[in-house]
Amino acid sequence: MALFLGAALVAAAVILFIVQPVAKGLHASLEREEDELTETEARKRVALLALRDVEYDYLAGKLDEEDYRSLKGELTAEALAALEADERARSGAAGGVDEAAIEAEIAQARLGLREGAFCPECGFANEPGSRFCSSCGHALQATAAR
Ligand SMILES: [Zn+2]
Repeated sequence: MALFLGAALVAAAVILFIVQPVAKGLHASLEREEDELTETEARKRVALLALRDVEYDYLAGKLDEEDYRSLKGELTAEALAALEADERARSGAAGGVDEAAIEAEIAQARLGLREGAFCPECGFANEPGSRFCSSCGHALQATAAR
């Protein structure tokens, strides 16, 4: 009887162990609000939104070429720094830092930023020249379409 009880407990523990992360993940993806962003995610988002604003202001004629270039340079650097911090924070949380994967993602992001294919909505680094985000469908910066 004791053996049976022990086996039942182990089975219950195993089921909990398997189900819990899945339930947690579902919850996180369904109820992802602004205030649930981590510090590094928020920083990345702010930098990308600022970059988009600069892009729009320039296209609307509110910024001259010189201001646009200096602002874009600054904000691109900030966005990359934020992205790198976010990558490191995320892989750190997952345990074990995969440097190669991080470097690859940052390189991809760098390319995306330069080509204007970086999605300001979700932060996804699209293929250069993309007009819409492959992750969320958001229309990408007008410079990419020109
Ligand atoms: Zn997107």
